[in-house]
Amino acid sequence: MAGEPQTDCLFCKIVSGDIPATIVRESDTTVAFRDINPQAPTHVLVIPKVHYPDAATLAAAEPQIAADVLREAGAVAADEKVDGSGYRIILNTGSGAGQTVFHAHAHVLGGRGLQWPPG
Ligand code: C5P
Repeated sequence: MAGEPQTDCLFCKIVSGDIPATIVRESDTTVAFRDINPQAPTHVLVIPKVHYPDAATLAAAEPQIAADVLREAGAVAADEKVDGSGYRIILNTGSGAGQTVFHAHAHVLGGRGLQWPPG
């Protein structure tokens, strides 16, 4: 059923606690944890607890939870004190855009200069 945990999903296992992660924030609907392969001094992933393969399918099915992910991404930036200098929220969607984990997630990157356009 849509949104149900998937047995083969890495991020569902982080939500359930079956795979460890360095969790920095949690809400009723989201978990935020440090990326295992950080690309900036602050690199945190915010994920919904429900399983959808990407941000667009999450937003179509559960717009309030998609909004929760964005709110929590902003809260992470404030917690990490990168909101003043600027930070980036990234929603890689599809393998051609670099998505490797097919459970919706927002990258929060900050703490260094960020180039535009991204690669
Ligand atoms: O957008 P994309 O799907 O590529 O992002 C997945 C991210 O999940 C990667 O940045 C990867 O380093 C991270 N990851 C993690 N912990 C894991 C597996 C992947 O933080 N156990």
